[in-house]
Amino acid sequence: MLLTTMGVVIGERVYGENDKFIDVFTKDYGIIEVTVKGGRKLNSKNASATALFSYSKFCVSKRGERYYLNSSEIENTFYDLRLDVKKLALASYFAELLKYTVLSYDSDKSYEIILKLFLNTLYYLEKDTHKILLLKSVFEFRLLSEIGLIPNLIGCCSCNAYSDHKMHFDILEGKLYCDSCFSGTDGYNTISLDEGTLSALRHISLSDMNILFNIKVSDRLLSELNKITDRYTLAHINRNFKTLEYFKKISEL
Ligand SMILES: [Zn+2]
Repeated sequence: MLLTTMGVVIGERVYGENDKFIDVFTKDYGIIEVTVKGGRKLNSKNASATALFSYSKFCVSKRGERYYLNSSEIENTFYDLRLDVKKLALASYFAELLKYTVLSYDSDKSYEIILKLFLNTLYYLEKDTHKILLLKSVFEFRLLSEIGLIPNLIGCCSCNAYSDHKMHFDILEGKLYCDSCFSGTDGYNTISLDEGTLSALRHISLSDMNILFNIKVSDRLLSELNKITDRYTLAHINRNFKTLEYFKKISEL
């Protein structure tokens, strides 16, 4: 059976002398592993379309449960990501997070919105239009929101208040409390939010995809935002990613 789909390469492994396997996150089929015969030869006609982070049109044949590449057509290589060690590390973390979350994603839904999120994030990362940590926060928090781990940030979970001089976010429960209803203490998993941080979190999880990246934050707000999305991701995905550890190490976070 022949299939044609758009997708982005999020992993590659060598196989045999000249071949390789690539993990492709596709619009139509989620993540598929594709065998690229001769993909490691220097003169391979599929070399750039099957390189890590390339976004391409793939024509594959499906035999049993396996996919084999027939032909490919490059759309965007995101080549400059590979020239910056920090960007490459962050993009690799995004790919790992994507791999881990999409495999448990309800496949009845379309992958289109998640693919768009990933491609837009890579685009802005490559073009240096946003602070690198802001892209990390936006990607991880929006991805989790899209796959069903969206926190309730509309208002206080007890009295529905939309705002207070201070709100408290329970990271584990994914719930918001106004200051009057809050009876706990702030700590690692419960963080008090000022208006700016809450509004940034609301924007990232709820805004239309077309305006998602229209967001500007101060350095102070960004460090707060990144602390929250980092802890939220760890709490709900419940595993460590080597690529994230590496990114943090070279970013001295
Ligand atoms: Zn309340």
